[in-house]
Amino acid sequence: MNVDFLIVGQGVAGSVLAWTLDQRGCSVILADDPALPSASSVAAGIVNPLTGRKLVHTWKANELFPFLHQFYSGIEQELNVRFFHPKNIYRPFRSLAEQTSYLAIANDPDVQQYVSKAVDNQVYSQFITNPFGGLEVTQAGWLDLTEFVRIIKGYFIKKNQYFEGYVRVEDLKISETTTDYQGLTIGKVIFCDGVQARENSLFDWLPYNPVKGQLLTAVAENYSIKNIVNQGIFILPVRDGLLKIGATYSWHDLDWQTTDDGRAFLESKVRELLKVPYQVVAQQAGIRPSTKDRRPFIGLHPTQPAVGIFGGMGTKGVSLAPYLAEQFSRHLLDGEDLEPEANISRYVSL
Ligand SMILES: Cc1cc2nc3c(=O)[nH]c(=O)nc-3n(C[C@H](O)[C@H](O)[C@H](O)COP(=O)(O)OP(=O)(O)OC[C@H]3O[C@@H](n4cnc5c(N)ncnc54)[C@H](O)[C@@H]3O)c2cc1C
Repeated sequence: MNVDFLIVGQGVAGSVLAWTLDQRGCSVILADDPALPSASSVAAGIVNPLTGRKLVHTWKANELFPFLHQFYSGIEQELNVRFFHPKNIYRPFRSLAEQTSYLAIANDPDVQQYVSKAVDNQVYSQFITNPFGGLEVTQAGWLDLTEFVRIIKGYFIKKNQYFEGYVRVEDLKISETTTDYQGLTIGKVIFCDGVQARENSLFDWLPYNPVKGQLLTAVAENYSIKNIVNQGIFILPVRDGLLKIGATYSWHDLDWQTTDDGRAFLESKVRELLKVPYQVVAQQAGIRPSTKDRRPFIGLHPTQPAVGIFGGMGTKGVSLAPYLAEQFSRHLLDGEDLEPEANISRYVSL
């Protein structure tokens, strides 16, 4: 049997790429090993065009954000499901100085389009410590990743194009133009294996810089803010009375275990922000597939062009994947150039 693509790994990257290629009319088998951990099953799924303490534009925000809104809501409409939740992000100012500098940044025409003109600080004051007011970032929101991955998995299972299990690189018979695997002749095998790419002998030369992260789930019955709140940490209401609180960043202890320190850090931050009682009911940890130069890893293998990679999504897989999957599919199917900053050819000398 011949197929155009085998996508190895079904986190957000694999799900988005498989959907994109399927919509272009390609035959796609999607494979995932449920026994392996995945960052997408931990992530909060937030998309935020202005990040960090300095309200910096997310890389390529002007391209990524219109595209991702259309992409996720387009799938929702096509399949009659719901997993994408556009919301503003409220950023309470820490001080008068921060208020002054944020309002100045918000006047920059490039930033203005992502900042709401009317913010009702009173609405937040009952629940959030905001003595200096705050601003709201627009075009933001969150993707319910568990639901998204479940829906995409169901879509490919229904088409009989889903494989559950571990794909071993040693079992792939790679030639110049195709790969044979378990009776299939595959046009291109694309690895979307997240941080596991570090152990993938085809792509272990790429310079990853993984970042561990933890978050909490908490019940706060009296909390009725619908937007996301962000001040160093985020408070994301996933449904009435249920909050996700995160996240930590650690470049050491790179395992998938939760720690008391992680919880203590998040609780110390949330206590400064949240005015209503809450109770932590769960804690999760994951590893972000971040890269040394903070840009994704996309492209075909330099000497074995029948295999490729779509990864290195770091802290922003939900924002990056749709636009970059579109670019990658145009590269694969129409021969268009890839975004040079994301193309793995920048590391070929390694
Ligand atoms: C605490 C935390 C909070 C985060 N919050 C956000 C956020 O708010 N917004 C955001 O955009 N990002 C967030 N992230 C980052 C986000 O998790 C990543 O950008 C994204 O999930 C990476 O997706 P991926 O598909 O590349 O990798 P993964 O989600 O890790 O998926 C890789 C998949 O490949 C499979 N796999 C690997 N090797 C094989 C193999 N050989 N055979 C079969 N299957 C294989 C694994 O089973 C896994 O399912 C957060 C991360 C953490 C840890």
